[in-house]
Amino acid sequence: SDHKLIYPPHPELMNWSSMYPHYVAEEGPADQAQTDAEVLPDRDSEVLKPKKLTQDVEVADIGCGFGGLLVALAPALPDKLILGLEIRVSVTQFVEDRIKALRAQNEEQKLYRNIAVLRANTMKFMPNFFTKGQLSKIFICFPDPHFKARKHKQRIVSTTLNSEYAYVLQPSGIVYTITDVPDLHEWMVGHFEAHPSFERVSEEEQEADPCVTIMRTETEEGKKVERNQGKKYVALYRRLEDPPHE
Ligand code: SAM
Repeated sequence: SDHKLIYPPHPELMNWSSMYPHYVAEEGPADQAQTDAEVLPDRDSEVLKPKKLTQDVEVADIGCGFGGLLVALAPALPDKLILGLEIRVSVTQFVEDRIKALRAQNEEQKLYRNIAVLRANTMKFMPNFFTKGQLSKIFICFPDPHFKARKHKQRIVSTTLNSEYAYVLQPSGIVYTITDVPDLHEWMVGHFEAHPSFERVSEEEQEADPCVTIMRTETEEGKKVERNQGKKYVALYRRLEDPPHE
């Protein structure tokens, strides 16, 4: 349950360096001098100041499951840092091991260094990990349907959660959704269309986006639907600019 989840009080304190070790920024001489001077008197500030990365995480896969999308996106978006968020402990561990193995097997080609996984409950802690406007893409692939009406509040698309997605997305950033459950598709469409920060992306633009093909074919759940010859419903939403203040 959530009391065992570890999350930073705010994004500046999130330590990404162990997850993306190849993107850790080298400390400049000034930083180094300062650190040396501070070392003994103020150890706590060392602990509290995580090492910076050369770039920020920009793509999030919400409820990433076994990581199929991450693995496929890694070479497709080679200059982006991509993060899978997953609530189940064993599944998160599986994805972590999968990424570690892929990095080792592809050491020479330097592949899979730009993907990582984090155990998190995205219904609660998104703004703890990401600053306002940090993300350019959010993927919500085959989310748990929670069929019964009394369980709808557990769905990871809702008016409140859409406001959090809007907060962490940059203007013109995209939310990608896919499901095989028609009722859930309509639910997601309804909630995004009703939200003032989003507009639906046209079908033409949607079908021209290479990430859509990847999302349709590469997630574990998507493959299962494929095997059962199920239908997949896709919808994309663009984050609009906030209106100017009166
Ligand atoms: N996206 C993957 C795919 O398409 O194969 C997995 C789909 S699976 C049906 C839904 C996943 O979302 C599960 O792995 C589940 O543990 C995860 N999940 C559900 N609620 C979550 C939450 N609040 N935060 C993070 N992950 C969550």
